[in-house]
Amino acid sequence: MNDSIAIHLKKLHKRIIDAARDCGRNPEEITLIAASKTQDVSRIKAAIAAGQSHFGENYVQEAINKMAKLADPGVIWHFIGPIQSNKAKLIAENFSWVHSVDRLKIAEKLNLAREQNQQALNVLIQVNTSGEESKSGVAPQQVPKLVKQIQQLPNLRLRGLMTIPAASDDIEQQQVPFKQLKQLINELNQQGIELESLSMGMSKDLEAAIYQGATMVRIGTDIFGPREYNSGNS
Ligand SMILES: *Cc1c(COP(=O)(O)O)cnc(C)c1O
Repeated sequence: MNDSIAIHLKKLHKRIIDAARDCGRNPEEITLIAASKTQDVSRIKAAIAAGQSHFGENYVQEAINKMAKLADPGVIWHFIGPIQSNKAKLIAENFSWVHSVDRLKIAEKLNLAREQNQQALNVLIQVNTSGEESKSGVAPQQVPKLVKQIQQLPNLRLRGLMTIPAASDDIEQQQVPFKQLKQLINELNQQGIELESLSMGMSKDLEAAIYQGATMVRIGTDIFGPREYNSGNS
């Protein structure tokens, strides 16, 4: 079972290289984050043994339990799930990156909780590119204001933008929200705000995201197989 993780990772590296080549990008600009929610420690270890070092988690307590069991300082942990304000402190203390900041209150809590002796916490603003009420993320027009507010927080280092668009099977359609996120970061760059990270692309829309400039892709299913949900994740 766990052998397949190495094979899946190899295939994924090839997909990233091929997609980058298709659009004239350097594949080394693209970081693969293994979305490991619900995957147990043995499966994460299998991925680490196959060379994977960036992992994304959605549930704070589940992630902290796994971090303790792994005790592997080589792993870089990304928080990619919705943030409840009472979990912000644990997130700030335990992760290197947070992709899902969508309001000032959460950014302030992360800033306050980040230890002075730690490096600044890398954060991305999650943008709602599909305009669906149910999706989390800040509306695109609100992004510049939130950028300026987050830049005032000394223990956070704003790195870029993230989005989770509505699912589509059509690669042209998939590119629309990714293109919007790319344009947004370009506009910010033109205003002299230096941001470089675009976290976009999952198992089904990895290529579309790379064509539009993704620098971080978050992949779960195509590494670990379909997720089995069980109780106790939160
Ligand atoms: C689970 C998850 C992913 C990975 O999704 P797959 O379709 O399994 O590749 C990526 N990003 C976020 C925020 C997730 O929660």
